[in-house]
Amino acid sequence: MQPGEKFYEGKAKILYATEDPTLVIQYFKDDATAFNAQKRGTIIDKGICNNRISSALFAYLEGRGVRTHFVRQLDERSMLVKRLTIVPLEVTIRNITAGGMAKLLGIEEGIALKPPVFEWHYKSDALGDPLINDDHILAMGWASAEELAHIRAESFKINEALKAFFNERQLDLVDFKLEFGRVVTASGKPSAQIVLGDEISPDTMRLWEHGTRRKLDKDRFRRDLGSVEEAYQEVLRRVLGQPLPAPR
Ligand code: 5GP
Repeated sequence: MQPGEKFYEGKAKILYATEDPTLVIQYFKDDATAFNAQKRGTIIDKGICNNRISSALFAYLEGRGVRTHFVRQLDERSMLVKRLTIVPLEVTIRNITAGGMAKLLGIEEGIALKPPVFEWHYKSDALGDPLINDDHILAMGWASAEELAHIRAESFKINEALKAFFNERQLDLVDFKLEFGRVVTASGKPSAQIVLGDEISPDTMRLWEHGTRRKLDKDRFRRDLGSVEEAYQEVLRRVLGQPLPAPR
C-alpha cells in the first residue's frame, strides 16, 4: 500500500494508508445512513464532531486502562490509529431500553436495565447485523473463548467509564455499539492483541439529556426529529466542556 492510498471506505469513514504499515488515518465524513443504508443523508460537520468526540473518548478510556486503536487526533476530520484486522462482531451494551431491543422484545423505550444487557451481533450489512450468541462465534471461528471473555470484560469496563463520563455532563448513556480488532504487526499479520477500534460518537451511541430525555444522537436523523446538527454540536460541547458535579 502506498502512503496516502485510500484502502477502505465505509458509510461514515475512510481509511488511508501511511508510511508506517502499522498505522492508518481514519477520516470522518458527513455522510449519514440509517436502517441498513436505506436512508441516506448528510449531517453538516458531523465528521468534525465525531472525530473530536471520538478522540476525546478514546483518550479518556486509555487513561482508564482500556487499550484502543487511537494514537492521536491529526486534524479536524482525521485521527491516527493503529491498523487492525476487525473482528467481524459488533458489541452492544444497553443501560436503558431503546431501538433494537425495544423492537425485538416488543417493550417500551426508557426502561432502566439492571444489570446492563450485553449483545453480540454479527457484522454484516447484507444481513442487517443479526443478533447472535457465543456459540455462533465459536462454531464459526470468529474469535476464541478467551477472546470473547476479554472483549466482554473490556466492554463492561468501557460502559462503566462512559456512563460516569456522561453522567457528569448531564447525559444518560442509553446504549452503544463497539467494534474490536487485532493489532496488525509490521509484517502485516494480525497479532494476538485485541483493542477497541472504530469510533465512539453520537452515530454509535444513544445519549439522552438528564430530566428532559431529549435525544442527542443519531436517532434525530433516523426518526426525522429535526435539529440533527445541533445535537452533534451539543454533545461535542459537553464532551469538551468542564464536567459538572453529577446530580446523582
Ligand atoms: P440498536 O440495536 O438499538 O439499533 O443499536 C444499539 C446502539 O448501537 C445504538 O446506540 C446504535 O447507534 C448503535 N449501533 C448498532 N448497530 C449499529 C451500526 O451498524 N452502526 C452504527 N453506527 N451504530 C450502531
